Parts: sequence; structure tokens; C-alpha cells
Amino acid sequence: MQAILDLTIKDLEYYLKSKGFPNFTARQIFSWIYKKAIFDFERMSDLSKSLRNFLKQNFYILGLALIQKQISSDGTQKFFFSLSNQQVIESVFIPTPRRLTVCISTQVGCKFACRFCASGAQGWQRNLTSAEIIEQIIYPAPFFGTKFFENAERCGIYLKTASARVVNNLVFMGVGEPLDNYDHVLKAVRILNSPDSVNIGARKMTISTCGLIAGIQRLAGENLQVELSVSLHAGDNQTRTYLMPINKKFPLEKLLPACRNYYKKTKRQITFEYVLIQGINSDLRQARKLTKLLAGLDAKVNLIPVNPFRNEFSRPNKLEILLFRDILLKAGIPATIRRPRGVDIHAACGQLRLRSNEDYKRDFEGDLSAAI
Ligand code: SF4
Repeated sequence: MQAILDLTIKDLEYYLKSKGFPNFTARQIFSWIYKKAIFDFERMSDLSKSLRNFLKQNFYILGLALIQKQISSDGTQKFFFSLSNQQVIESVFIPTPRRLTVCISTQVGCKFACRFCASGAQGWQRNLTSAEIIEQIIYPAPFFGTKFFENAERCGIYLKTASARVVNNLVFMGVGEPLDNYDHVLKAVRILNSPDSVNIGARKMTISTCGLIAGIQRLAGENLQVELSVSLHAGDNQTRTYLMPINKKFPLEKLLPACRNYYKKTKRQITFEYVLIQGINSDLRQARKLTKLLAGLDAKVNLIPVNPFRNEFSRPNKLEILLFRDILLKAGIPATIRRPRGVDIHAACGQLRLRSNEDYKRDFEGDLSAAI
């Protein structure tokens, strides 16, 4: 059995044609799954009986099981899914009055062990497939009202409701390093971007990286208008290596030229993420170093007061945060301060996958395959 969400429409057309089914049936199947949120081949009423039987014998649509959903006091929702091998992944839905951001995971765990991030603390277990990446936003569609995706409204199947939300911002910033799972992530981006599926604009998708240079170079050649977000977190190598061990392999003198080349090739502004940690990287000298690193680059900086994890780090006070931001602004670098969302359910930046798989088994009473 194969995951149908792993296929582009071209893949599916090719496959069905090779089995004697007409080309156009692939578009019908995509429409049922991605536009009508129907995840049961039997309910795809305009397909022939023989095609429905063929699909049931060869493909599955949903491979994840939803094991729990947590809702923060600020409206953020965290979904826990178990995979076929009973490992657990998390994704986060962040509604605001203007948009619905979905933060999805790309790996089970992470190899890169950034000090301020829970996701790397348990190590890396495996890459997610394109289907498992896509499914994180397809599966919860019914939880967010009926007008879930931009083009769902056009197809007329979804009704408008007061609580309806449209996913209009997708960030590959959950558990894992997206560029370390490059092929699956890029295939998921292309499928989600396709007008035949949910048609999320490439500019509404952000791929983050801790600074994997080969991945940045590859992405620059993709001719895709996705946003790139690079985790910087320090203005010098010593501090960055302390926070992010990957800096030993790709220090600032290699990373920044790779970012400049990316900009030269794509003409797309890069966002640099900077977690502010009291006594580590939040002093004004670090801010000035940062302005020097980014001089002449079309960049913006997202300042993220650190979110609690292991009680190792704390946030700088408000004044320190504002002074840090002002130094960037005075140097002509756009800088914003990210408002934390979902901290009470450990859904904020750096807090995902706080628990090990053993903890999850205890939390969910050993049954990681039971959907709620
Ligand atoms: S910040 Fe990103 S790269 Fe670093 S440990 Fe967390 S998930 Fe991995």
C-alpha cells in the first residue's frame, strides 16, 4: 500500500494511465482529497466502482492517527499524531484575526541539538515522508471550520461559517531541520502549492534552517518563491557555537556568504531568527555585531524572547529587548519581536517534542494508535 499524498498529480496521472484508467481521474481524486477533504475512496462518488476498488487495494489516504489535541488559552492548538511505527509528531495551528498559521514538523526529533530547543534534546529518529508532512495540515481540516483552504471556497463544497479559517501561512518550523530532509520537504511544498491540491502560495510558505549551506544553495536554484528563514541567534562564532553546535561545521564566515549568494540568485529577502536569551546573546554588543553581519543584505530579523524549556535560559527584560531591536532598526534592518503563542501547552518556538516517545506512551496510556 502506498500513501497517495506522496504523489504529485503528474505522478498519479502517469500511474493510473499505466493501469488503464483515464488521465482525468487523477484530477478528480485530488479534488476529493484536497478540496473536499474526503479521505475515503468509497465516498468519491464520481469515480467508477472499479477505480474505487483499485484505489482501496493500492493506496491509503491518511497514515497518521490523531492521538490528542491541546488548546492554549490564547487559541493556539497543538496536534499530536502517531506515525505507523508509533512515534509521535506534533504540529501547531496558530489562529489570529487575519490569518491561520500552521507550523509543521519535518522529522521525528532533530540531529542539531540547539541548546534552547526541546526538539533536538531527544536526538533524531527519522525523516518524515512528503505524505506525513502534508497530512499534518490536511488531517485537521474539519477542526477549523469548513472554509479551510483558500480554494476550498471556490469549489463550493465548503460552507462559510463564523468560525471558518483559511490556512494562509505555512511554516516549516516544527520539529526537525527541513533542509536535512530536503527532497521530502520540497516535494510537499510543490504538492501543497499546486492549484490541483490546496494551492497555498509559495510566498506563504517559510522554510527554516539552522544554516545548512548545501541546502540553502540548492533551494536558491529551485525557482520557487518560498520564504527562507535562517536561525542565527548570535553575532559571533563563540556565542553561536555555544547555542548551536552546527556552527562548528558552518561558521558565520561560511553561512553569511551563502545567504548573500542566495539573495543574489533569488532576490528574495531572508528572515534571520534570533532567540533572545538573558546573559547569553541579548546584550547590545551582540546587537551591534549582528548589524555588521547583516550590513548590505536585504534581511529582516525576527527577535524571539526565549520560551521556557529545561529552565536553563530566561528572557531578557522588556527594556533590553526593545534596546536590542532599536539598534537593528537604527542600522536600517527591519526587526520585529515575536509574540509567543501557545506557551502554556508547550507549543511555542523551541518547545515542541519536549517529551520522549516513552513519555508519550505514558501520557497516552500506551496506545499511540488510537485516534480520538
Ligand atoms: S532549532 Fe531547529 S535545528 Fe535546532 S534543534 Fe530545534 S528543530 Fe533542530
